[in-house]
Amino acid sequence: MKYKKPVCECGGELQTTAAYCCDIIYNINSNGKKAKKPKYSTDTQDGEHLECKSCDNAYFIEIDDKSRIIRGEEYDII
Ligand SMILES: [Zn+2]
Repeated sequence: MKYKKPVCECGGELQTTAAYCCDIIYNINSNGKKAKKPKYSTDTQDGEHLECKSCDNAYFIEIDDKSRIIRGEEYDII
């Protein structure tokens, strides 16, 4: 079966959204000061879901048997 991109109830395009936790990491220089350039670590992520570009609807992300994104149940944004 040909893949169809997931769409919202309203017909709008869906895109994935997730909240990322970002650690900002500084090395300590030999003079005891923080390095100027931080490193960012964004390995944790939470609540990834689909959001409509046109309205406020949101849906869970489901994956089909070929690992493609399809629309799941409605998702309540807290
Ligand atoms: Zn919509």
